[in-house]
Amino acid sequence: MKAEILAVGTELLMGQIANTNAQYISSRLPDVGVGVYYHDVVGDNPERLKQALALAISRSDVIILTGGLGPTQDDLTKETVSAAVDRKLVLDQETYNNIKQFFQKREKPMTQNNMKQAYLPEGSLVIRNKNGTAPGCIIEQDGKVIIMLPGPPSEMKPMFDETVMPYFAAKSEFRLESRFLNIFGIGESAVEDALIDLIASQTNPTIAPYAKDGEVALRITARYPKHGNDEDLITPVENEIRNRLGQSVYSNDNRSLVEVASKLLLESGMTLALAESCTGGLLASKLTDIPGISAVFDRSIVTYSNRSKVEELGVSQQTLDLYGAVSEQTAREMAEGIRKASNTDIGISITGIAGPAGATAEKPVGLVYTALSDCNGTDVKRLDLWGNRNRIRYTACLHVFDILRRYLLARGKE
Ligand code: ATP
Ligand code: MG
Repeated sequence: MKAEILAVGTELLMGQIANTNAQYISSRLPDVGVGVYYHDVVGDNPERLKQALALAISRSDVIILTGGLGPTQDDLTKETVSAAVDRKLVLDQETYNNIKQFFQKREKPMTQNNMKQAYLPEGSLVIRNKNGTAPGCIIEQDGKVIIMLPGPPSEMKPMFDETVMPYFAAKSEFRLESRFLNIFGIGESAVEDALIDLIASQTNPTIAPYAKDGEVALRITARYPKHGNDEDLITPVENEIRNRLGQSVYSNDNRSLVEVASKLLLESGMTLALAESCTGGLLASKLTDIPGISAVFDRSIVTYSNRSKVEELGVSQQTLDLYGAVSEQTAREMAEGIRKASNTDIGISITGIAGPAGATAEKPVGLVYTALSDCNGTDVKRLDLWGNRNRIRYTACLHVFDILRRYLLARGKE
C-alpha cells in the first residue's frame, strides 16, 4: 500500500512550525506494512487543498491528512475532503455529546462553530479524540483510504497509535519486526561498504543504515506472515553483521553506549575515577545517569586549569610547559594521577580543544586526548573530532565510553 501524508496549515508553509506530524506518521507506518511515498504541505486554502488532494488520490492508496479539523473558519479539511469524495457531512451524535460535555466541564459556553466539529463525512469511521474536541475519521472509497487527523501532535499521536495503526495492522497480511544494531567506531559509509552485498541482496529482512550523532545504527526489519511461521529471520542476519563488524556493534536492544559500558563496569566490579578537562563534567553526568553506578564510580574531578592539573592530579609542570595541556603526555599523567589520587582500579582522563577558540597550527579544534590507566599501564588515544563545541564534547564522551567498553570486553576475555 502506497501512502501519502498531506499536512494542512499555513503555519507549516511559513516555517513557524515543523511538520513533525508527517515525520511521526512516516516513522510508524512501515511497521504495519504501509510504505510512505509522498509528503505534501498545503496552506489553509480550499482551492489548493482540493488540488493537492486530487493529486494525492490519483497516485496513492492511502492519504493521511493532518490539521484543519478544528472549529474555526480556516479549518476546512473536512469540508474539502467531503466534497472531493462526494459525501455529505452528517452529525455524529456521540461527538456532539462529547463536545457538549467538554464545554460543560470547563464551564465555558459552546459556540455554534464548535458544533462544526461534530459533523463528519457520511459513512466514515470515527476516530475519537480523548485529548481535544475535534475527532478524526477514516473514509474508505473506491479502494482508497482517506484519513483525517487533527493538527496538534498531542491529539494526533494517540489517535494515530490507538486507531490508525491497529486499522492497518488488521488489514496487513504480514507483521514486521525490527531490530536496531548500534555501532560505534566505524563511519556510516564504512559500515555500508562492509555490508554492501548484504544490503543490496536482502529483501527479507531488509537492512538500512542510519547515521546518528557520532554513531551509526543499522535497522534490520523482517516481514513475517501474520499467522504461524515463527522462524527467526533477523538473528542470522545480525550474526553475519557481527561477524563483519566485530566489536563495533555494541548493542541490539536500544541500549546506549554509556549504558553498555556501565553494565560491563558493574559486572567487572572494577572502580573508576575520571579527570575531565574539555568535557567539564559531562562524562560524570552521563555516567551518573545510570542507576547503581555508585557501586563502581568513585569520582570525577574537573581540572580545567593547568594549576588544577598539577594540584589535583600531580601532572608535572614540566610536562605542561613542554607539551601543553592538550597532549598525549598530559592525558597520560592526568589518568595516572586521578587513579593514584582516588585509589581506584581504573583512571580515565580527557583533555582537548572543544573550540571555537584555543586552536593553534599544530593543535586544531577537535583535537582530544584520552587516556585509560590501570595497574598494568596507561593507554592514550588521540581523537580528531569535528563539529561545534557541543558536538565535540558529546562525541568525545562517546569515545571514552567506547574505550572503556572495549577495555572491559578485552579484560573479560583474558
Ligand atoms: P485545532 O482544533 O487545534 O484547530 P486543527 O486540526 O484545526 O486543530 P490546525 O489548526 O491545523 O489543526 O493546527 C493546530 C496546531 O497543531 C498548530 O498550531 C500546530 O501547533 C499543530 N500542528 C498542525 N499541523 C502540524 C504538523 N503537521 N506538525 C506538527 N504540528 C502541527
Ligand atoms: Mg485549527
